[in-house]
Amino acid sequence: MTRPAIELRGVRYAYRRSEVLQGVDTRVAAGEVVALIGPNGSGKSTLLKCITGILRPRHGHITIAGEPVKGQRQARIARSLSYVAQTTDAVYPLTVLESVLLGLRRASWRHDPADLARAEAVLQRLGMADLAQSPLTEISGGQRQKAAIARALVRQTPFLLLDEPTNHLDMKHKRDAIEILTECAREQGQGVLVVLHDINIAVQLADRIVLLRDGRVMADGPPQAVIDTPTLRAAYDVDVHVVEHQRAPFVAGYQLQERGRG
Ligand code: ADP
Ligand code: MG
Repeated sequence: MTRPAIELRGVRYAYRRSEVLQGVDTRVAAGEVVALIGPNGSGKSTLLKCITGILRPRHGHITIAGEPVKGQRQARIARSLSYVAQTTDAVYPLTVLESVLLGLRRASWRHDPADLARAEAVLQRLGMADLAQSPLTEISGGQRQKAAIARALVRQTPFLLLDEPTNHLDMKHKRDAIEILTECAREQGQGVLVVLHDINIAVQLADRIVLLRDGRVMADGPPQAVIDTPTLRAAYDVDVHVVEHQRAPFVAGYQLQERGRG
């Protein structure tokens, strides 16, 4: 039996006339971590929004565990997946714990003890237990980012979509967030699709890397099959160097300016 998956076939999307997604095929299976990488403007956020049903593709098919996204009500899609949007700057007058409980979106303001325990456990796991009662307005950008991740994790949906969730995080918090995403896949069988800019993190985290450029999939496969010097040079237009480190590809650096000038 094949595992349930999010599947995309021939997905095309245009905000106005020019196509931002030009026929994307890929999949994210239960228990798998897929990192979506690619230059700014390559269509990563747009792709996630098409999967959530926020945007409707012009052509192509998206299914979640065999059910087409098209025509499904948002409430139904939300039972299958949790989504952390790229910008989490919106700040509400809530405490961290209240914002995490919001992820459960019960039709009641009274949270039962099981919900509270779940929310507190997620905060604990993210090393944020001591901030539970802090107002979102009084914590750092990185901590707010983690609160947004917690809000998605507490829902325990089959799939998790995260758009640059590690952006404001320092090295330690990045590592923590990544460990948690790995656990979500390994221990709870969630299918995780995460947009990342840090390719070295993508290599360590992901079972598969999907490289998007100009709305097309340029490469899709295990990290060692996707991440190499010529592919990254072509994708990002920089003089990047990929080396081998601990038997995995590692972006060692790139030139900020041409050498030997002047
Ligand atoms: P990425 O997340 O890979 O940086 P996006 O999916 O956000 O890329 O954007 C892809 C392209 O679509 C960009 O050229 C961007 O300018 C354009 N775009 C994104 N959002 C909108 C929008 N709401 N209206 C019009 N164009 C948009
Ligand atoms: Mg984006």
